[in-house]
Amino acid sequence: YADTAMYQVKEKGRDSIEFFNEEMADKVSRQLVMEGDLHRALEEKQFELHFQPKLDVASGHIVGAEGLLRWLHPTKGFISPAEFIPVLETSGMILEVGQWVLEEACKTLVRWQDKGLWQSGMRLSINISPRQFRRKAFVDDVLSTLKAYSIPENSLDMEVTEGILIQQIDEAIVTMTTLVENGISFSLDDFGTGYSSISYLKRLPVTVLKIDQGFVRDIIEDRNDRVLVETIITMGKLLDMEVVAEGVEQAEQLDILRQYGCHYYQGFYASTAVDIASFEKLLLQPQKLP
Ligand code: C2E
Ligand code: MG
Ligand code: MG
Ligand code: MG
Repeated sequence: YADTAMYQVKEKGRDSIEFFNEEMADKVSRQLVMEGDLHRALEEKQFELHFQPKLDVASGHIVGAEGLLRWLHPTKGFISPAEFIPVLETSGMILEVGQWVLEEACKTLVRWQDKGLWQSGMRLSINISPRQFRRKAFVDDVLSTLKAYSIPENSLDMEVTEGILIQQIDEAIVTMTTLVENGISFSLDDFGTGYSSISYLKRLPVTVLKIDQGFVRDIIEDRNDRVLVETIITMGKLLDMEVVAEGVEQAEQLDILRQYGCHYYQGFYASTAVDIASFEKLLLQPQKLP
């Protein structure tokens, strides 16, 4: 994997060679080991898509799910995406893994429809990484994948972050619009952590704002966070968007969100991300949720 080390040097410029000290060498070598492991992970089918339910704040009904990637390492057990997504990104492997996630989501939607578990209006979201979204062939790849699976109408959602969109906004709008015309919806993930201005939010074909869990976490104690969350919800409604709160862990947080009129939520209070069999049980027996 010499090319990865090269890539790092190239990316940081010539001056950085001076700083190519032991610590960096260590970091690179750990990254290379992980890259090797990740190559094998794809070949040996060590990835799984897990599902965290999205719920209606008012009714408590499941309105969909977010698919979250899990890596079951043969000796280390489950490894968090926070650790390996950045490595997939820098190595470019995210393109292959991202395509795997898309196909897995499509297969799952077909399966749930066949089993009668998927009601119309429900949506499954997948996370799209910046590198994946910006690739020229992204739209074509998604469209040909959609052709290969007949998923329920309007059942697939893509979560993107503000950073993806702000850099080349016109290209981003074209990409999103084409996909929206093909039944895909878009959610703005981790909302509030980026640089969105209302004027540019209005231009984007985004249906859902997801309030970052960082703002929800301290909503009970921190008045500033409460004001911020209320403002995001109000703004989302004014822009005709749906608002999802992430990271809800306590009943009291949910009460506040309900008071503010937040539409949907995700969080450990209802459920963590679970494997497909467990999620199917939740769809069959939603009374198991709080
Ligand atoms: P994200 O898209 O913002 O996903 C939400 C993260 O918050 C998930 O972490 C989820 O397990 C966690 N979470 C949900 N509810 C709670 C809660 O109540 N409390 C706390 N503390 N955490 C909660 P996870 O699964 O570790 O994923 C981390 C990030 O990795 C994701 O953030 C997303 O950016 C990325 N990721 C995950 N799967 C994929 C994927 O398939 N493709 C890409 N490109 N990125 C992915
Ligand atoms: Mg997400
Ligand atoms: Mg998020
Ligand atoms: Mg995140």
